[in-house]
Amino acid sequence: ATEAEQKDLVIVGGGVAGYVAAIKGAQEGLKVTCIEKRGTLGGTCLNVGCIPSKSLLNNSHLYHQILHDTKQRGIEVGDVKLNLGQLMKAKDTSVAGLTKGVEFLFKKNGVEYLKGTGAFQDEHTIKVQLNDGGETTVAGKNIIIATGSEATPFPGLEIDEKRVVSSTGAIALEKVPETLTVIGGGIIGLEMASVWSRLGSKVTVVEYLDAIGGPGMDAEIAKATQKILKKQGLIFKTQTKVISGDVSGDKVKLNIDSAKGGKEETIESDVVLVAIGRRPFTGGLGLEEVGVELDERGRVIIDQEYRTKIPHIRCIGDVTFGPMLAHKAEEEAVAVVEYIKKGYGHVNYGCIPSVMYTFPEVAWVGQSEQDLKKAGVKYRVGSFPFSANSRAKTNLDTEGMVKMLADPETDRLLGVHIIGPNAGEMIAEGTLALEYGASSEDIARTCHAHPTLAEAFKEAAMATYSKPIHM
Ligand code: FAD
Ligand code: NAD
Repeated sequence: ATEAEQKDLVIVGGGVAGYVAAIKGAQEGLKVTCIEKRGTLGGTCLNVGCIPSKSLLNNSHLYHQILHDTKQRGIEVGDVKLNLGQLMKAKDTSVAGLTKGVEFLFKKNGVEYLKGTGAFQDEHTIKVQLNDGGETTVAGKNIIIATGSEATPFPGLEIDEKRVVSSTGAIALEKVPETLTVIGGGIIGLEMASVWSRLGSKVTVVEYLDAIGGPGMDAEIAKATQKILKKQGLIFKTQTKVISGDVSGDKVKLNIDSAKGGKEETIESDVVLVAIGRRPFTGGLGLEEVGVELDERGRVIIDQEYRTKIPHIRCIGDVTFGPMLAHKAEEEAVAVVEYIKKGYGHVNYGCIPSVMYTFPEVAWVGQSEQDLKKAGVKYRVGSFPFSANSRAKTNLDTEGMVKMLADPETDRLLGVHIIGPNAGEMIAEGTLALEYGASSEDIARTCHAHPTLAEAFKEAAMATYSKPIHM
């Protein structure tokens, strides 16, 4: 072991939370060390999450569109073949480019990068088992825990990443399974179901609740999404629970039951994806050594300045409270460094967008209708369908709508929900509007270029306080 050197900031975990905090810390003049065990930076998001899944979503959509949606556009294609190996290679190339890019940014900003597994030795010291062998220690005036999350396992169904897979196996299957069953109709479930269905699998999604989309999606939008995805060939079994499962021969059997207590049924498939949520990851960190506390769901308990019970040990990202999203982790990373350096920082948790990258995309920010009802908040609804938007019509992509919720008295925007082409890009406008406390009339009186999908956004705003022109 080398002599412990005192740094201004030591970060355990080089995911989005950790790497962004490291770069921001260095930019603020702090001496920073970031410890990551994976061998590459970027965490779940860059290596096995956001980036590889979006590569597969983008290219499988293109393949599916070429197969099924070219004739009406006046394009005649010949023999279309899937080269799954190349599809995976394209994904791996994107991942490698981005993770190396973060490593370059570390060098550029003078962040020390230790490849290894960190654990608390004491309140100021992290012991690191280096990936290349050996051990070192690094001491920090401030320490940030940014160790992220892992897939929640399904009891009794062992994940082997071949037949029973988490998202990590689902982004790396070596052949297109004939049949795929997805446990959990949340974001991971629906994104991966879309990918493999487009590539030729028969996909069944088993969801415990009566609606798909996971937490946060507006119920009306979730219903519309289910209808569209069903048309694309996905089979949904909602209000259905998986009781047990086992791998027998080259099939995986799942015993399912209606959540209301109905008839039991067995589904057999080549591959089962377990996508029932993610849980915080703190294994082997030695939190008990220093007395950092976890809540009943395993999340590190922090205050508003991201401090654990030990004030110089802070925590951000998936391993603590809030939505498990990369951009939420990134916001926290900037704010936590500002708290350390300046004593103040800011994240608006009411204004974090969510995007599901299916086709069409689903995106939202702020509150859903069911949230507002539950809270007893009065609201007005305005919506506008893409079938009445000129650009969507021109592009022959008319499914979906923009829906806005606003305060009936002040007209202040409360939530925006979009299902439609490019919803993930369009939600940025809703997020900005919400962050600035805009009214629906503010949006409606803002000139939007023609012909764009964003005009549907403007017209939904018009519909909220008055009437849209094109409906
Ligand atoms: P992580 O990214 O999990 O990073 C934590 C890192 O810490 C890991 O690399 C881990 O190896 C390391 N680590 C843990 N313990 C130690 C230790 N003791 N020593 C050293 N290193 C350690 N979010 C979005 O916003 N958009 C998306 O499109 C999206 N798509 C996703 C798709 C999938 C399939 C999945 C699984 C997730 C997706 N997410 C998406 C969620 C996103 O990946 C996470 O919210 C984000 O990665 C959280 O960042 P983090 O830094 O907190 O944790
Ligand atoms: P999720 O919480 O979004 O959805 C899990 C779904 O599984 C829920 O609908 C839940 O009701 C259902 N479920 C739970 N237990 C079940 C059971 N026993 N049987 C049947 N259904 C069950 O979780 P996820 O889809 O695993 O995603 C994990 C996290 O990763 C989320 O926080 C998500 O935000 C993040 N993520 C984000 C993106 C994105 O931003 N595009 C993409 C992928 C993942």
